[in-house]
Amino acid sequence: VPVLAVVGRPNVGKSTLVNRIIGRREAVVEDVPGVTRDRVSYDANWAGRAFTVVDTGGWDPDARGLAHMISTQAELAVQLADAVLFVVDATVGITDGDAAVVKILRASGKPVVLAANKVDDQRTETEAYGLWNLGLGEPFPVSALHGRGSGDMLDAVLAALPETPPETVGEVAGGPRRIAIVGRPNVGKSSLLNKLAGEERVVVDNAAGTTVDPVDELIELGGKTWRFIDTAGIRKRVKTASGHEYYASLRTSTAIDRAEVAVLVVDGGESLSEQDMRIIQTVRDAGRALVIAFNKWDLVDEERRYYLEREVERDLVQVQWAPRINITARTGWHVDRLVPALDKALAGWETRVGTGTLNNFLGRLVAEHPHPVRSGKQPKVLFGTQASTAPPMFILFTSGKLDASYERFIERRLREEFGFVGTPIVLQQRPRE
Ligand code: GDP
Repeated sequence: VPVLAVVGRPNVGKSTLVNRIIGRREAVVEDVPGVTRDRVSYDANWAGRAFTVVDTGGWDPDARGLAHMISTQAELAVQLADAVLFVVDATVGITDGDAAVVKILRASGKPVVLAANKVDDQRTETEAYGLWNLGLGEPFPVSALHGRGSGDMLDAVLAALPETPPETVGEVAGGPRRIAIVGRPNVGKSSLLNKLAGEERVVVDNAAGTTVDPVDELIELGGKTWRFIDTAGIRKRVKTASGHEYYASLRTSTAIDRAEVAVLVVDGGESLSEQDMRIIQTVRDAGRALVIAFNKWDLVDEERRYYLEREVERDLVQVQWAPRINITARTGWHVDRLVPALDKALAGWETRVGTGTLNNFLGRLVAEHPHPVRSGKQPKVLFGTQASTAPPMFILFTSGKLDASYERFIERRLREEFGFVGTPIVLQQRPRE
């Protein structure tokens, strides 16, 4: 899915406009630089086309300290995006800050759509035309608050976004498999990457604020070439404490989006954390294959192992299907088990079940384990078809709506029958009344 980054100085109304784009009616968050938001990217849809909107903090290229950190994030967002929506407050006009942002946008070479916000009525519309002077082409007068003009602006956004992101094209052409190594800081991601790459690479640590390009590395493993996504994000340490989480989560979710399979690295010596759960959720939402690597296995003794097994049972039920490997990245112990796990997960991710086979299976399943009767009615699966792979998505035509527990039961049996290992499965019901 193509990515749109929304940028602009603080208080120009970015969050309101993002809410408008994604059709959300929530209390508007003010643009307070430094406020951590736990979600930064959203699914959007306009005229039947899906895209991802990345909301950035306020962007002031001349800022120092905390605000500087946020500007760096905005810059990163621009680099990761396919197009940029640049929001300016038309009632204020062009500020020095805006002009500086324009310079960076130009250098990025990304297509830019210029939104002249806070044009709430006809009268203020003329003020928007002063923004032609930014040299970014036609300004689109909008009122994020009232929705005025947002249709034309979104049409321009669609025109600026590529039909198919280049990454997907590469996949069709049979490019290398794309892997994202993700996980909390210090779990051993870069140690693992170094072991896989077979070298201790010197990482040049850019001074904060200089370009933070996502860098991929091609690594040959098991006779095949694999593309490791955004290894700069793994190797590079972001030392500033404030804004770190925002930065890291943006980087993680973008890497997952670009990957086909994610490797979640956890520290075997420590309990699974909320952050691990969030990453797992991101992988599931994105519909990517998943492998979980328990690292630092050299530190796992009998006792820890006992507790770990319980934690896995409790916290990883949602992703029981993900292959798990125990490794010691530092010494390389069992690191060779990663490739077979990746192969298995990717195979499950791309498995396709023919419609005949699927309905044979569903027919047997429903006969043996009918849906429980609910208030005098018995919902039934009539017919199923696999609409797509990567991840596998099934459409079930039903009479009445199936219970969530029955849906989970079907998913479980689908996994057993057809070997959907390492991949989320999407089930969609089409109840017929
Ligand atoms: P990252 O932040 O996830 O990239 O983690 P690093 O790869 O930088 O590792 C963090 C720390 O854990 C470093 O001190 C590593 O030497 C150490 N470490 C990494 N893997 C292992 C391992 O398998 N066993 C042990 N005992 N330490 C490890």
